[in-house]
Amino acid sequence: MLRLPSFTYLQPRTLGEAVAMKVDAGPDGMFVAGGTDLYPNMKRRHQDPKVVVTLMGIPELRRVSTPLLRNMGTLGGNLCLDTRCNYYNQTYEWRKAIDFCMKKDGHICWVAPSSPRCWAVSSSDVAPVMVALGAEYVLVGPGGERVVPADRFYHNDGINYLTKQPDEALAAVRLPPADGWDAVYHKLRRRGSFDFPVLGVAAWVKWERGRVVQARIVLGGVASWPQEIPEAGAVLAGTDLSDEAITAAADAAYRPAKPMDNTDFDLSWRKQMTRVYVTRVLAELRQRRRAGK
Ligand SMILES: Cc1cc2nc3c(=O)[nH]c(=O)nc-3n(C[C@H](O)[C@H](O)[C@H](O)COP(=O)(O)OP(=O)(O)OC[C@H]3O[C@@H](n4cnc5c(N)ncnc54)[C@H](O)[C@@H]3O)c2cc1C
Ligand code: SF4
Repeated sequence: MLRLPSFTYLQPRTLGEAVAMKVDAGPDGMFVAGGTDLYPNMKRRHQDPKVVVTLMGIPELRRVSTPLLRNMGTLGGNLCLDTRCNYYNQTYEWRKAIDFCMKKDGHICWVAPSSPRCWAVSSSDVAPVMVALGAEYVLVGPGGERVVPADRFYHNDGINYLTKQPDEALAAVRLPPADGWDAVYHKLRRRGSFDFPVLGVAAWVKWERGRVVQARIVLGGVASWPQEIPEAGAVLAGTDLSDEAITAAADAAYRPAKPMDNTDFDLSWRKQMTRVYVTRVLAELRQRRRAGK
């Protein structure tokens, strides 16, 4: 059985106290919310904080918990989720047997051995949706509060996958006002029950008088960040999501989608499924529009 290493568990009562504790802990400290990602990672020695500062029980953050993920998982934890890779999400002993990799304890990337960077995959279901919606994140850190657009919160780097400072906590998510937009998310995964996405497609469109005036298509599970495909959104503008427009957007999304061979399923099949899933989300948006939903 995998066991947690020993660590100090701090229970702040306010967000300010949490940030101060995290600053005191320095690089040895980490925030935890539901712990559904961090604790398994600590058991596999992916992350080894000596001090864990819990965000549960802080009144300001209660609204960031989501009933969708039920019980322990939180929205904040989901949006800050560690990137994933078949060579990384393994036990310490398994990783030691291959001499580790550059994301933790090693020097090489086993997915792309000549690569100077890590290609671990953004596997959050909600992050691509937030980028597609144009959401904003409220961060609270030692210097106070700041607001960043969701698309600027992520880096396309498997190790440094967030742009936020280590001591900043994600305190709130702001969605744009509902003024004629609609959005849909579909994910490809092996199991019908809970499972990480190996491809996620979030589509957002803004309608005006029966026409799309703006659209965003964002892919999850194909890069180290939620990957927006501006070309796919651009071809939808001015259309009523005709079959031709949907096919053009699916083709535009297919070309830059470059999944790596480090998650479930064959990578060339996952790439082909980009076209299928983009088609499906856009067809659903059109159907909802026609049904007046
Ligand atoms: C079996 C299993 C299946 C899963 N399936 C999915 C899935 O299908 N889709 C999916 O998206 N996720 C999935 N997850 C991952 C995870 O459970 C969820 O993403 C969950 O929402 C994470 O929230 P948490 O509060 O438990 O995160 P934690 O484990 O507490 O934290 C995750 C990371 O975020 C940081 N963090 C947490 N909250 C904050 C905050 N407010 N500010 C700054 N940093 C913060 C932590 O330091 C840590 O690095 C799965 C996990 C498991 C174990
Ligand atoms: S992509 Fe490469 S460096 Fe990153 S976790 Fe996988 S094997 Fe390690």
